Amino acid sequence: MKKFLLVLMSLMMLALAVGCGGGEKKTAEQPKVLKVGTEPTFAPFEFQEKDSKDFVGFDMDLIRAVGKQLNMKVEVQNMGFDALIPALNAGNIDVAVAGMSITPDRQKAVDMSDPYYVSGLTIVVNKDNNAVKGLKDLEGKGIAVQIGTTGAEKAGSVKGAKVKTFNTNAEVFLELKNKGVDAVIIDKPVAEYYLVKGGKDTAKLVGETMEAESYGMSLKKGSPLTAQINKALSDLKKNGEYDKIYEKWFGSKAPAEKK
Ligand code: GLN
Repeated sequence: MKKFLLVLMSLMMLALAVGCGGGEKKTAEQPKVLKVGTEPTFAPFEFQEKDSKDFVGFDMDLIRAVGKQLNMKVEVQNMGFDALIPALNAGNIDVAVAGMSITPDRQKAVDMSDPYYVSGLTIVVNKDNNAVKGLKDLEGKGIAVQIGTTGAEKAGSVKGAKVKTFNTNAEVFLELKNKGVDAVIIDKPVAEYYLVKGGKDTAKLVGETMEAESYGMSLKKGSPLTAQINKALSDLKKNGEYDKIYEKWFGSKAPAEKK
C-alpha cells in the first residue's frame, strides 16, 4: 500500500511538472505587455475620452501600432509628466509616450527614440490682450506652464516672469482663462487644438513658433526595446500606417518635415 501511494505521489508530481512546463510555454506564446506611461492632458497627442476614460490621441494610436509591430500588448498608465522619467528609471513603465521633446538633458537621463513628430513652443494669451506680441513682452508677467516641460523651462528664462507651474494642462489653460496669468507657454499643436475645441472664444496664439522640438519616446537607459521601437517607427512610416494616424488626428497629410 505504501509503495502504491509513493508511486501515485511521484506520478502526481510528474503530472504537475509537465503541466507547469506546458503552462510556461503558453505564456511565452502570449504577447508580452508593453507598459506605457503618459500624462493625458495633452490633446491631440494624449487625452482621455470623456465617458470611457480610454486613452486616445496621436501618441496612443502610434504606440498601439508599435505594440502590434512588436507583438506586444500595450497597457497605458496615467501619471504626472514629471513622474515619467523616474518611473522609467524605477522600471515601473517600459516606455513614456507623452509628446516628450527630445532634449540633451533628457537624453542624459534616458534613451530617446528617433523623432516621430516635429513640434515647437508657442505663447497663448487672452483674446483681449494686445500687449503681448512675443516672448520679450512677457518680462515681469505671469506665465502658466506644466511642470517639467520645455515650456516651463522657456518661461523660466524670461526676465522677471512670475512662473506658475501646474500638474496638468487643463489647469494651465484654466489659469489663463481666469486671468491668474498673462500667458501660457505650451506646444503649438496642443495650443491649436485647444483653440479649435472652444478655447478660441477667450484665447489666441501670439508670435512665431519658438524653436522646433521633436517628440521622441523615452526608455530606460540601455533598454533593448529602444532599437525595436525605432525599427517599428521606421516601418510604420514606410508602410503608410503613420500617415493614416497623422491624418486621423491632424486632418491633413503628414508633410515630410513633420515626421
Ligand atoms: N513637449 C513638451 C515637453 O517635452 C511638453 C510635453 C507635455 O506637456 N506632455 O516638455
